[in-house]
Amino acid sequence: MIQGQDLNRRDFLRISSLFLAGSAAMSTPIGRTLSGGGDALAGNGEERIVHSFCEHCFWRCGIAAHVRDGRIYKITGSKHHPLSNGRLCPRGTGGVGQIYDPDRLAHPLIRQKKGGRVSYRKATWDEAIAYTAEKLYGIRETYGPEAIAMLHHGYGYTFFKKMFMAFGVNKFAKPSFDFCCGPRHQGYLLTYGHGAGTPEGVDIVNSKYILFFGTHYGENMHNTAVQEIAEGIRRGLKIVVFDPRFSTLAGKAEKWLPIKPGTDIAMMQALMNVLITEDLYDREFVAGHTVGFDELRDEVEKMTPERAAEITDISADDIREVARTYARYAPAAAVHPGRRTQWYGDGTQRSRSMAILNALVGNYKMPGGVVKYEKYKLPKSETHHYPEFEKKVWSKYPLFVDTKPENSIASHEVIEQTLDEKIKAWLVYGVNVPETITLGRKIALEAINKVDFLVAVDTLPMEVTGYADVVLPECTYLERYDDLDGGRPYRTPFVALRQPAVEPMFDSKPGNQIAKMLAEKLGLHGVLEEDVETYLDRKLKKAGSSLAEVKKTGVLLGKPTDLYRKPGEKLTFKTPSGKIELASSKLREAGFDAVPRYIRHPEPPQGFYRMLTGRKPMLTFGRTANNRFLNELPTARENEVWVNTHVAEKHRLSHGEYVHLKNQAGVVSEYPIKVKVTERIRQDAVYMVHGYGHYFKKLKWAYRKGASHNELISHTEIDKAIGAVGFQNNFVTFIKEA
Ligand code: SF4
Repeated sequence: MIQGQDLNRRDFLRISSLFLAGSAAMSTPIGRTLSGGGDALAGNGEERIVHSFCEHCFWRCGIAAHVRDGRIYKITGSKHHPLSNGRLCPRGTGGVGQIYDPDRLAHPLIRQKKGGRVSYRKATWDEAIAYTAEKLYGIRETYGPEAIAMLHHGYGYTFFKKMFMAFGVNKFAKPSFDFCCGPRHQGYLLTYGHGAGTPEGVDIVNSKYILFFGTHYGENMHNTAVQEIAEGIRRGLKIVVFDPRFSTLAGKAEKWLPIKPGTDIAMMQALMNVLITEDLYDREFVAGHTVGFDELRDEVEKMTPERAAEITDISADDIREVARTYARYAPAAAVHPGRRTQWYGDGTQRSRSMAILNALVGNYKMPGGVVKYEKYKLPKSETHHYPEFEKKVWSKYPLFVDTKPENSIASHEVIEQTLDEKIKAWLVYGVNVPETITLGRKIALEAINKVDFLVAVDTLPMEVTGYADVVLPECTYLERYDDLDGGRPYRTPFVALRQPAVEPMFDSKPGNQIAKMLAEKLGLHGVLEEDVETYLDRKLKKAGSSLAEVKKTGVLLGKPTDLYRKPGEKLTFKTPSGKIELASSKLREAGFDAVPRYIRHPEPPQGFYRMLTGRKPMLTFGRTANNRFLNELPTARENEVWVNTHVAEKHRLSHGEYVHLKNQAGVVSEYPIKVKVTERIRQDAVYMVHGYGHYFKKLKWAYRKGASHNELISHTEIDKAIGAVGFQNNFVTFIKEA
């Protein structure tokens, strides 16, 4: 075993090109074809199709990887998988750019100090695993298992989770909870007793009228949801988009209402006010299936359309018209729960407002309304006995979503506990911590400097790998098995298989093998299955199928969900009252407002503009940042800052010129960003896509492209109920390049 080394992690290390894949990977057919599986085996084993699922976002669509001569030459949508329906978004098809990325991590690396110089050296897997195990073991023995945390994103983390559970570690955090799915999940849970769902439980194709609050479908390419919106519009669906920016979705809307940022709750209260005062709500449903109506009515009666108009900049007439139209189409009408739902620290109540607007019109389990999908009933695999594992929620927030061990603490709490020296070691799986929204880049780097040991598992040399003590190169999702995707409810319940289309390239390994090697080295014998195929086969056999069978199509389908309620059907909800809670008893007990209340948020200082963010349809933030196939698309190469025409005039900015952005705390973007002068955004805000401005040179395609949004976050608002992080109270102004 290598002895621990006293290294200074404050040095960001530039991984030598010698340790990366190199350009040969792009031009030569590396990667041997695997045998078996696929529904189109063409003679001589030379060409075939392998069915698996995408890793470029959590939608996890079914893919068909087309392999010829041992090389994947294209990826298309699986016709078998209900979440692709034969099609993919651009990112899904761009997976070829990930597997053959010449910048891929090719070898395990260990940070070393020699002659006063800190650098990485190439290591064997045995060395890297032994060193990692030694450090983790030492930290657990000295400080206890609570001094170790895992930050994870992506589907391959499950094996590391098992390994850590057996090791007694149970601080798991996924940053996407903090700013994306946490508030809406908990908001719906508190109201209906179940989450909003991924895919969301909205019967889009059969709906007549859907309200979207800042949801960017079309830019946010969740494949089948976008397909459903297109199909719904073809069938006559009308949509209303409340958004400070004229988004792609707004371009499809009957009405775009450029709402003042930070005022969504006031708007939704006003819509409730109209529904209640004009007696447009579903009295029978509300009386029979909800609690807390009187409390809600007392709260929203103050928010008249006139008062809301002053707050939101949307006219009282428009508010009344939307509320009345919504009621007219109900129950085939809905408010979509959206994604990335934490903006100002009141995301849980904002999501609850959406849930309540749905409940008021009685659209629950009705065609075109809110529906509840079912899961494929996959029998539980044999459970392991984890002697050291104590299931515990480490979050200090009273209503943190705590049901699963993979999310037992908010990721910003991992940062804070590291700064407080309570956490000493991180295993980072697919999370580029400096550029991931937690508390902004500056604080993330302070925490990285504090942590005693950092092991990064990744496919590419992202910024976080430059700070790691050990870098473990995982192969891409196209070269490995992962656990079954079987836990998600959908219209057609399914279990999906991720399987390798080609063997791992270079010296990379699948996460399941890396975790198993680590488990063995930590003395956790028998914790992970002997081999992943045996494990998957056992699980699938319990479901009446087998690995060999499911490899053919990549998916096992269940009976379609019975979506709609029958007349007189008794509805039950897993809330404390057993009913939909318009006033939440859990929030009240925890000392929060039981019904959503509008809170005024800070205004931009003079000459500054609220920094709004979103994404591009061809990119998933960090995960696709260096994908040369996707980055070759002209609109993907860099991000732009959207500036209203009048604001541009005021600051003498021209369309296409480069500026630096400076935030309210004086932080200036390291790289310049191109100005997009447009009427498509309000005058009090600017907009930029997250995931640009990478400072790691080894990311050849992403390096210095555009400006980093995360770098400009200096202020956050924490949702005190659940611990999610709001970051839209950051404001920027422009510094002209010259
Ligand atoms: Fe992949 Fe696109 Fe599907 Fe997401 S929506 S899983 S990126 S194909």
